[in-house]
Amino acid sequence: MDIDEYVQIWRQPTMVHYSDKLVIPKKMHTCRVCGEIIKSGEQCHLYKGIEDGFYTIYFHNECWDYSRDWEENDWETCSPGEISRKEIKDEMNANARISNENRN
Ligand SMILES: [Zn+2]
Repeated sequence: MDIDEYVQIWRQPTMVHYSDKLVIPKKMHTCRVCGEIIKSGEQCHLYKGIEDGFYTIYFHNECWDYSRDWEENDWETCSPGEISRKEIKDEMNANARISNENRN
């Protein structure tokens, strides 16, 4: 176990990360963050965790990136669809612009 994994488990005793990976689903799914459809055949992010048993959730790639710095609290307060996929894309683009400006 590397140190990041250790810290994550220590910080979230009831929500244990199990695995996450990029997948191309054969069936349609709903994104955990924006609540919009992930089409079958559209590459997305599959997350498996353990909280009172195994669970699996799906994310658009940008919604996955967007939610990487969420705390456990954010997950509890943000239900799917509270932010739209378009808002996420806009925000990610704005962030990319800011980091580009900082680099110059
Ligand atoms: Zn999404």
